[in-house]
Amino acid sequence: MRILLVEDDHLIGSAIQQALHDAAYAVDWVQDGATALSTAKTEDYILVLLDLGLPCKNGLEVLGELRNSKNAVPVIIITARDAVEDRINGLDEGADDYLIKPFSLNELQARIRAVVRRNHGVAGSILSNGILKLNPATHEVTRDNQTYTLTAREYALLHALMLHPGTIHSRDQLEGRIYGWNEEVASNAIEFIIHGLRKKIGKDAINNVRGLGWMVSK
Ligand code: CA
Repeated sequence: MRILLVEDDHLIGSAIQQALHDAAYAVDWVQDGATALSTAKTEDYILVLLDLGLPCKNGLEVLGELRNSKNAVPVIIITARDAVEDRINGLDEGADDYLIKPFSLNELQARIRAVVRRNHGVAGSILSNGILKLNPATHEVTRDNQTYTLTAREYALLHALMLHPGTIHSRDQLEGRIYGWNEEVASNAIEFIIHGLRKKIGKDAINNVRGLGWMVSK
């Protein structure tokens, strides 16, 4: 659940970063359009939050260049510009949604959940593989009618696995999904989180494929 935040307003940027961090997202924050573009092209984000009025390159240029380079990462535009034309241009350039400042941080999180669901073809609000049910709004997982509360890391890791049941995720992939670029990652961090998850929801809920990584069954 790693998000790229592109926002040149320091107050707004730090408020968003803090709120999303508290909600278990890893947030990489950049403050100009050129850096946004180079970062989005090299890192693996679940979503980009994109301001329009930015130094170096504006948000619409960033979005246009991303889509031209066949980068389909979901983008939510966050903008103070409330002209209908800006919104239309943003959606036409390939944005998935937009929010007009000032917006509630709770609404932002609900929009992020909705865009991520749509982007991964998840119909309902709950991620399920037939054994586990993961609720992105509460970070709770249910198995056999028992509900478990997860830590932020446990939730982020299980969410990455549950978005693609039946797909093996390597350690590198999982680290890339749940840690931002400023975070120190201990060499056994992923094993440690998986260990905690298995203690809660059962050892057989997450399969280890020796030498390759981890997955939840489909
Ligand atoms: Ca701005």
